[in-house]
Amino acid sequence: MQFRDLIKQYNVLKPEMDKAMLDTAASGGYIMGKAVKELETMLAEYVDVKYCISCANGTDALNLALKAWNIKEGDAVFVPDFTFFSSAEVVSLERATPVFVDVDADTYNMDPISLENAIKRTINEKKLKPKVIITVDLFGLPANYPLIRQIADKYNLLILEDGAQGFGGSINGKMACSFGDISITSFFPAKPLGCYGDGGAIFTDNEEWTSIMDSLRVHGKGSFKYDNVRIGVNSRLDTLQAAILKVKFNAFKEYELEKINEAANIYTSKLKGIVKTPIVPEGYYSSWAQYTITLKNKEQRDGLQAYLKDKGIPSMIYYPKPMHEQTAYKELSYKKGSSPVAEMLSDCVLSLPIHPYISESDIKIVFEAICEFKRKYIPN
Ligand SMILES: *Cc1c(COP(=O)(O)O)cnc(C)c1O
Repeated sequence: MQFRDLIKQYNVLKPEMDKAMLDTAASGGYIMGKAVKELETMLAEYVDVKYCISCANGTDALNLALKAWNIKEGDAVFVPDFTFFSSAEVVSLERATPVFVDVDADTYNMDPISLENAIKRTINEKKLKPKVIITVDLFGLPANYPLIRQIADKYNLLILEDGAQGFGGSINGKMACSFGDISITSFFPAKPLGCYGDGGAIFTDNEEWTSIMDSLRVHGKGSFKYDNVRIGVNSRLDTLQAAILKVKFNAFKEYELEKINEAANIYTSKLKGIVKTPIVPEGYYSSWAQYTITLKNKEQRDGLQAYLKDKGIPSMIYYPKPMHEQTAYKELSYKKGSSPVAEMLSDCVLSLPIHPYISESDIKIVFEAICEFKRKYIPN
């Protein structure tokens, strides 16, 4: 059994995919070819924002947004404590300071109450200037934008939506990657919409920021490639990856998103009451980058992972450490207990195999193994 079966997906899409890749090879337009602009237009339309700019990966996408906003030393950027390292790394790259915010135990996403407390604390300490909230749509579920937007407005902060895992999700029909003042996604192969290497995209309705980020991604170009008006980076999406993404995007829209939701619903209906299953609030829709359960403690979690492994069932721990415990952030001197929920989750979460092509019989093997483990090793 595969954790996320990308080869199965390739085999289903093979005729179209092979044609798209070979056509790109034959076209000669390997950098910023026709497929790049076509993909950007398709994605902007799907997300329902004015502008989409593709780039080399999701981390660069986040970083380009912070650069466009001129985030710098002395600025505070609020980041959930339970996320992939990139979400905070990009803040430090601009010499600003990430302020870690605890998350909600049901949704795994940034907790609005902890966010407001962190903003107030930062204002009172007078050392850093609050500027941006980076929300993460963790495991495919959009963050709590109705409340977070209110807080952002109250304190005059910008929202950067890290939708690296969230593409395809929505709240009451409004799509993920449209909630931020700038939003981003990643096309890393295992993300909800992945390519065959690295890729990323930025979404916004703001024309000025779009033109800055469009310039930044190509060495700060001005009116043409050899007119450089600012210091930028080299962060383009390859034409080949854009061509691959166009094929995958169709499958994603047509049936993959629906299929993965069916798989998640089966897991939840079978596992409810046996382990803590992920909660999708009313009106929210997840793209299920991960299906993550929570055990009672670390012993049970590690025990279950070993038990599944014995039966040939892969599972992953996303994430084994909250951000504030990362060695790279030790000089920020956070103490144990500063994010009780993020700390608990890093001990107790386990992500199960899920993807649009998983069979019902594979799902059954997984949940039956979990039930068996529970009967054998966890007394009621
Ligand atoms: C994967 C990921 C990123 C980074 O994306 P890359 O394309 O790998 O650079 C950023 N944030 C989150 C939450 C992610 O899961």
